[in-house]
Amino acid sequence: DVLKRIDEVEGDVKAYLTITRDEALAQAKAVDEKIAKGETISFLEGIPGAIKDNICTKGIKTTCASKILENFVPPYDATAMTKIKAQNPVILGKVNMDEFAMGGSTENSAYHPTCNPWNTDCVPGGSSGGSAASVAAGTSIWALGSDTGGSIRQPASFCGVVGLKPTYGRVSRYGLVAYASSLDQIGPVTRDVTDCANILNIICGHDEMDSTSSEAEVPDFTKALVEDVKGLKIGLPKEYFVDGMDPEVEKTVRAAIEKYKELGAEIVDISLPHTKYAISAYYLIAPAEAATNLQRYDGVSYGERVESDDLVGMMTKTRTEKFGEEVKRRIVIGNYALSAGYYDAYYLKAMKVRTLVQQDYTEAFKKVDVIMAPTAPTPAFKIGEMISDPLQMYLQDACTVPLNLAGLPGMSIPCGYSASGMPIGLQIIGKALDEETIIRAAYTYE
Ligand code: GLN
Repeated sequence: DVLKRIDEVEGDVKAYLTITRDEALAQAKAVDEKIAKGETISFLEGIPGAIKDNICTKGIKTTCASKILENFVPPYDATAMTKIKAQNPVILGKVNMDEFAMGGSTENSAYHPTCNPWNTDCVPGGSSGGSAASVAAGTSIWALGSDTGGSIRQPASFCGVVGLKPTYGRVSRYGLVAYASSLDQIGPVTRDVTDCANILNIICGHDEMDSTSSEAEVPDFTKALVEDVKGLKIGLPKEYFVDGMDPEVEKTVRAAIEKYKELGAEIVDISLPHTKYAISAYYLIAPAEAATNLQRYDGVSYGERVESDDLVGMMTKTRTEKFGEEVKRRIVIGNYALSAGYYDAYYLKAMKVRTLVQQDYTEAFKKVDVIMAPTAPTPAFKIGEMISDPLQMYLQDACTVPLNLAGLPGMSIPCGYSASGMPIGLQIIGKALDEETIIRAAYTYE
């Protein structure tokens, strides 16, 4: 069973920040009793899963892998969590991440890095590294993650699992600790596409507690679990095969797309010309929103406090000591981009780029049904290799952040391995609210 698996490999993988063993055992026992009585159970009932530590869980510590929330026990559940709990699964605990979801390797966790189960010298990706690593290691059967600029898809790619970032607004953000509110989305990390569709069914839907939550009707995503890509028009954007892309990744992804052709899909070369500006725009917009969202951790209303003689001293000390380096870097960038005199040159420009990136997709989707590309430019890299070079780390997000800027859904599915045996992910991008076509394409490949 999964708790046994945790005992065996968690020491090497370190995917968890909190393991709720006793509660998990009690939940499992209750479901066993139900089964023994011959009662029917739902899809997720009794199935053990893990929750990213930025999703609020009533009565269970939610730290965002930050020292500033070291002792935060939410008095309420995030809406996605409420919906999951209604299905009566076993909750194993909370999984590791980059602090406040800022990063792409889980090395920015204030507690410990997580290791990639395929090779424990490598990172699992991030920021939902704990979610992907636990599913890949079998220390959870499913997990919830969050994706602001690739944080579900890139770790899914690095760990050889399935990760979906739904359309912005599909899943309520109520109870998801905010990083960049106009980009954040909760989504499933699973072993296969069937599990992904089933969990998506559970967590989607309008929520009056989140004003950006979509009122669009939620289809039954499991109906899209059909093997059929005949006539499907797949766009291949030339800009996603970026300079510096690992040749093995390019080869593997192109081979996967070739397979779609054999299955009857039509491959269409497309151009998304503003892609090259997406990273620059993202790394202004996301920090700007983060700087604003993280103002609340002032040692008074939210989070830990480090005492000092006066109020300003207390706030300064608290934030200096309790935020990690990357979080502080983003707060500084964000406040700079938003400050008077620089707002027009940076934030406003970035917002214009965001619109251009959105328009690129709108044009492209007039010609194609889905877009396919690599999820990340490289397979999982070594722990410690990139952490001292933030800019290099930001470039990892080249293929994932454009979607978030446009609010579109995207999935990463495993499509092969590098020569050293590390998984490579294929990214499937869909039109807004069209997760179904992504699921159909992914299911057919699987
Ligand atoms: N790597 C990106 C960042 O650091 C994406 C993170 C995310 O999606 N939460 O911002």
